[in-house]
Amino acid sequence: MRKKVIAGNWKMHKDIKETIELISGIKNGLTPNENREVIVCPPFTSLETAFALLKESNIGLGAQNMHFEDSGAFTGEISASMLKSVGCKYVILGHSERRNVFGEADEMINKKMLKALNSGLNPIFCVGETLEQRENGTTNSIIENQIRKGLDSISAQQLENTIIAYEPVWAIGTGKTATPDQAQEVHKFIRTLIADIYDEKTAGSLIIQYGGSVKPENSSELLNQPDIDGALVGGACLKPDLFLGIINSI
Ligand code: PEP
Repeated sequence: MRKKVIAGNWKMHKDIKETIELISGIKNGLTPNENREVIVCPPFTSLETAFALLKESNIGLGAQNMHFEDSGAFTGEISASMLKSVGCKYVILGHSERRNVFGEADEMINKKMLKALNSGLNPIFCVGETLEQRENGTTNSIIENQIRKGLDSISAQQLENTIIAYEPVWAIGTGKTATPDQAQEVHKFIRTLIADIYDEKTAGSLIIQYGGSVKPENSSELLNQPDIDGALVGGACLKPDLFLGIINSI
């Protein structure tokens, strides 16, 4: 049986003091449950502090981005080995804000995916359509293109260490959530596509998260869908009670 995996993407929020408060709040409210995994993805500046606070917990640490080169003249960038050195196990790649605000293309995301996996980091690989693409009826072809390009040259074995997050762009930070049926339909499409590119076993064990305005009020219904294996949470991960509300809805 696939575990449910809840990850919090803090985006550009929380200084060190606020990081300590948020992580303490999450840790204090978390009850043991072997059927789910919790991940927090603070900004780079908080990773080391977060790792120290998470040491005795089962909460995983992730970063929100990384560069595909090992080192060099890349001002402002962070490498996979740097992330590993501060205790990261996960890294979010291909988030729609990286794609749409910072112009990251599928080819660059694929290079990052390969570097993360070859460095022993587990990517949370995000895909999703815009409102215009959904209204044009091109959702599946957009998702297929992002997945085929993003996963180019990635083996079935490497995919075991990858989480895919389906995040419709129109639902991110907007308060508009995909209905459980809309989300389930795309998740099922993704799993079938993975079976087609790889095999049934790989598809069957792949964790596919939903992301886009997940909150305690809608998480239970979303997480009960057969192909939704967790959530990537933005806004609601910034307050312990909301993040815990989502986690405890499993
Ligand atoms: C996200 O940024 O990945 C996200 C899903 O944000 P929100 O939950 O705020 O929509």
